[in-house]
Amino acid sequence: MIYGQGHPRSMFCPVGLPGSDMDDTQLKEIIERGLFKGVMKFNEPLSSHTSLGIGGPVDIMVFPEDPLSLKNVLLVAEKENIPLFVIGAGTNLIAPDGRIEGIAVSLKAFRSIELTQDSDENNVVLFAGSGVPLPMLVNYARKYGYSGIEALAGIPGYVGGAIYMNAGSFGVEISDVIISVSIMDPHGGIAILDKDNLGFSYRSSGLPEGSVILSANIILRKDDPAEVERRIKEYSGRKKASQPLGEMSAGCVFKNPVGEAAGRLIEAAGCKGMKKGGVEVSSLHANYFINKGGATCRDFVELMEEVKEMVREHSGIVLQPEVKLIRTGTRGQELERLHD
Ligand SMILES: Cc1cc2nc3c(=O)[nH]c(=O)nc-3n(C[C@H](O)[C@H](O)[C@H](O)COP(=O)(O)OP(=O)(O)OC[C@H]3O[C@@H](n4cnc5c(N)ncnc54)[C@H](O)[C@@H]3O)c2cc1C
Repeated sequence: MIYGQGHPRSMFCPVGLPGSDMDDTQLKEIIERGLFKGVMKFNEPLSSHTSLGIGGPVDIMVFPEDPLSLKNVLLVAEKENIPLFVIGAGTNLIAPDGRIEGIAVSLKAFRSIELTQDSDENNVVLFAGSGVPLPMLVNYARKYGYSGIEALAGIPGYVGGAIYMNAGSFGVEISDVIISVSIMDPHGGIAILDKDNLGFSYRSSGLPEGSVILSANIILRKDDPAEVERRIKEYSGRKKASQPLGEMSAGCVFKNPVGEAAGRLIEAAGCKGMKKGGVEVSSLHANYFINKGGATCRDFVELMEEVKEMVREHSGIVLQPEVKLIRTGTRGQELERLHD
């Protein structure tokens, strides 16, 4: 299925995107030949796919329904040299304002959770697709009394994004419960990598360059459902009290330096409440920048730079971004300068 944002398109789109020099003939072909199941959208605004509500139109956004459809898109991208990136729920992503060149891949259709092993007295193994919302996985664990991810309650995003970012909270990281992860490489090859080969560290994974996470095997402990529920409520309550969960943000903007909290450093540097265009440093948690309405990527990046400089002047510490930056397109490369 193909949809065009702002352009009258029927089932098949014309070759060559409006306002773009990208040739989409090959993509059209895989659909016509039945080699792609899912949805393709053209000129799709990424602002609709990021929790911050920022981002210009990406040439093509694909939502494959199965690994073969994903593989065929990857092969076209490789053959035609089209930039491609994966987007989860967009809760840790900053996307440029202007046209974003290439293909954005969403695995939101990879949404199944299955109990794959229940023979052990103490543990269970779950299969979780990359597009499973993390809150849905936490809720599944709550329902059946499986323990291990209670502290991740309240973290938005999908399982694939959580693995890529090694998302965590209150001293627990998703990598703590990962047994293995299934990935697809840029040539469409599938591999299963054990946790030890995934290079997890603080808010980071060491996946092979360009690989797409398809699913994960997760180990959880059998526990009393009431106890699991109690802990989830406790962690959710603590998170709600300390983080601006109801506002448009991309989560923590900067990583915590070793032994320090980025939020505390930003607050100490006097940045709380600082504004740039439509973006404001949260008054609840200074490491969250909020889209107060009409914010642009430029506003966000400029505020990041100012805050980073003020923290450096105040404490001598150079903050590093936790948010991920989409680098393709007209302004994407400019975002690179934040990493130094
Ligand atoms: C209100 C709020 C609270 C938050 N609280 C926390 C918190 O407590 N702890 C925490 O760690 N984070 C937190 N975050 C940040 C964010 O939710 C996590 O990092 C989350 O795991 C990102 O998942 P996502 O699906 O949204 O990924 P995205 O933001 O869409 O993507 C993040 C990165 O992962 C890559 N990626 C995503 N899916 C795949 C895939 N299938 N294969 C390969 N690469 C992929 C993307 O290319 C990108 O580089 C918070 C965010 C918000 C908005």
